[in-house]
Amino acid sequence: MAEHIRVLLTEEEVDKRIQEIGEQISKDYAGKQVHLVCVLKGGSFFMCELAKRITVPVSLDFMSVSSYGSDTKSSGVVKIVKDLDESLKDKEVIVVEDIVDSGRTLSYLLEMLKDRGPASLRLCTLLDKPERRVIDVHVDYTGFNIPDEFVVGYGLDYDQRYRNLPYIGVVEFD
Ligand code: 5GP
Repeated sequence: MAEHIRVLLTEEEVDKRIQEIGEQISKDYAGKQVHLVCVLKGGSFFMCELAKRITVPVSLDFMSVSSYGSDTKSSGVVKIVKDLDESLKDKEVIVVEDIVDSGRTLSYLLEMLKDRGPASLRLCTLLDKPERRVIDVHVDYTGFNIPDEFVVGYGLDYDQRYRNLPYIGVVEFD
């Protein structure tokens, strides 16, 4: 079956919004240092672009998690595949995600990170599908609310492909 990508958010729209979020974070954390925690692999493209637009001092760390459960539905029980290198103690932490869907993965992850004693813990996501939420997760910074469609690009994959697209699209089958 042939597939093509329908553009949902153009590169210009995504770039403009990331700039706005970067400015907002820079204002909110004026005089402080932010510690960005990227959830691999999806969040990495967004995190790099966002970090470049933040004007207060920034440090970065990465973690990789996998969710137990079927391929299509996350169970919410998260296994840490790669943990953070640094402690979160007393840091102003912002978790940077590609997308919040059911909220299962993130609610588990945020609880776990809270126990590590950060000065503050916020969540920033490029995309949010509020219709899909099963577990309530408070999102502090959202790029775009999108409809319930499977999206790719800007770090998001379909079978490990399309992460490198500089825009957000929907995979369609002809
Ligand atoms: P949640 O626990 O919120 O249901 O799962 C979020 C994770 O599901 C995301 O980090 C992402 O890996 C995956 N996911 C959810 N929706 C999409 C989507 O539309 N496209 C892609 N590529 N991944 C998605």
